[in-house]
Amino acid sequence: MRTRGNLIVLSGFAGVGKGSVLKAMFETEEGYAYSVSATTRSPRPGEVDGVHYFFISKERFEEMIEKEELLEYASYVGNYYGTPKAYVEEKLEQGFDVILEIEVQGALLVKEKEPNAILIYMLPPGARPLYERLSGRGTETEEIIRKRMTRAAKEAEYLVKYDYIIVNHDIDECAANLHALIRAQRQRVSNNLPFIQKLQKELVDFSKKEC
Ligand code: 5GP
Repeated sequence: MRTRGNLIVLSGFAGVGKGSVLKAMFETEEGYAYSVSATTRSPRPGEVDGVHYFFISKERFEEMIEKEELLEYASYVGNYYGTPKAYVEEKLEQGFDVILEIEVQGALLVKEKEPNAILIYMLPPGARPLYERLSGRGTETEEIIRKRMTRAAKEAEYLVKYDYIIVNHDIDECAANLHALIRAQRQRVSNNLPFIQKLQKELVDFSKKEC
């Protein structure tokens, strides 16, 4: 009996490696759908509309808010980011585990609306490895790296509101742990009620019959 997929929210500091871990997990595992967000920020070099984000105008974004087309949205560093609702709903119905890679404010809104959503926070093994990772990219100035570290310290205050943490020591190991964590949710009693009720009925019917 097909069960509805899990709604998974993945957050983590800039530079922690969410993108690389998800890429590794999607390459080896099946049954996932990645929710592409809408945003009003401009594409960065290499980003493709419809793949990394739906890059839309502020007017169109506000229309989506008004028409209740978004599951959640947040304003982050001067731009809107939001999750289109229809895709998420369709994929959950089809039994896919849907991944939202979103920041903290949006994650908490999702939990309010969908209490069964699973909130996972990806962490670096320590502050220094995060700093080294941000510096290692070689694309940012020291000032920007410091700002990201300060933001990480602030965001870490919200960690206790999440359901699980996952530590990124190594991309493949972290991808395997993330997959195991998500798959385990499939065994939740609350995710299997149709099957449980069917079995309960069968057992009652069976016990009334002569064997
Ligand atoms: P970036 O501009 O670096 O791609 O993303 C900035 C932040 O926005 C990241 O923390 C990312 O996870 C978050 N984000 C991306 N899409 C969404 C979304 O649909 N909703 C919310 N609330 N945050 C998002």
